[in-house]
Amino acid sequence: MKLLMFSVREDERPVLKAWEERNGIEVTPITDPLTTENVELVIGYDGICIQQRVEVTEEFIYEKLKEFGIKQISLRTAGYDIIDLKLAKKYDLKITSVPAYSPTSVAELVVMQALRLIRNSPIVEENMSHGDFRWGGLIAKEINTLTVGIIGAGKIGGTAARLFKALGANVIAFDPVQREDLKDTLTYLNAQKEVLEKADIISLHVPLDEKTKHLIDAEALKQMKPEAYLINAARGPVIDVEALINALMQKKLAGAALDTLPNEQYFFNYDLTGQVLPDKNLEKLMNMNNVLITPHIGFYTTVAVQNMIDIALGSALDIIRIGESENEVS
Ligand code: NAD
Repeated sequence: MKLLMFSVREDERPVLKAWEERNGIEVTPITDPLTTENVELVIGYDGICIQQRVEVTEEFIYEKLKEFGIKQISLRTAGYDIIDLKLAKKYDLKITSVPAYSPTSVAELVVMQALRLIRNSPIVEENMSHGDFRWGGLIAKEINTLTVGIIGAGKIGGTAARLFKALGANVIAFDPVQREDLKDTLTYLNAQKEVLEKADIISLHVPLDEKTKHLIDAEALKQMKPEAYLINAARGPVIDVEALINALMQKKLAGAALDTLPNEQYFFNYDLTGQVLPDKNLEKLMNMNNVLITPHIGFYTTVAVQNMIDIALGSALDIIRIGESENEVS
């Protein structure tokens, strides 16, 4: 059996090699994403694995995959919105994703950023960058004295809640689905508004859909305490970023940490050194000394990358061998 893996990064190669050795199966890595121009590369392979921002929406691709005997597309990501599921069904292609590669990878980033915010670390670092080593006035808070509010206590939100609880924080949450296994960790409140009003740190972990777009808008920001911090490691459009910038400028919020932003596909994971930033909101946020931006690195740990490859290739094998996988999406 032979598999073809698209968009392979350098850091994935050793993990991929180890998988090949463990499973005795050849996987050919290529750096390009799957497109209409290169779909013929799959000829002679039994299955494919992809991870890309470029959408797979052209019917031609699905048609050719079927014609070349491919039965599946295995994604190394949790999301599968780049795939046209109707076309996949039409051409008998089963789609798999990796629903949980490491909730801890994102949760640990969130905890780190929460601690940095309450330590005034972005302000201290900015002062030090021009030689000001004074600390007067920058007194910090301890996490064990604070209430953390989780909006969306699923895989990542639930893991973040456990980490915050272990550090001594009081954890409250809003999620329409209440999990029994989290009831010793957090207190569920009945409405998002109640969590926004009570928490000192709000961390967002909802999926992005029509209902959660701009979940945190000007009205929601008004419900937060002016001394509270907002963290978003979910998806950029969950926050109305212009409303956030206004709230920060008017000191209606103490600060924010953002691992994801609207339009991030145009700047995150690019080297823009020396160039004018292509997004006005990004530029405004980067110039605020109480805002921490990370370029969507929550997922990027050794454990997560290992799981993405192992689970995605495992699902590809399941579909090829037995026609089904527990990670199939429809
Ligand atoms: P999940 O499906 O396990 O959890 C989402 C939770 O949100 C569920 O419990 C759901 O009931 C809840 N929810 C849905 N709508 C809600 C609402 N309006 N209010 C409150 N709760 C609501 O998802 P997950 O795997 O924990 O992922 C959470 C987010 O993290 C997603 O947006 C995902 O795209 C993002 N993510 C980010 C990174 C990163 O690198 N920063 C990596 C992976 C995932």
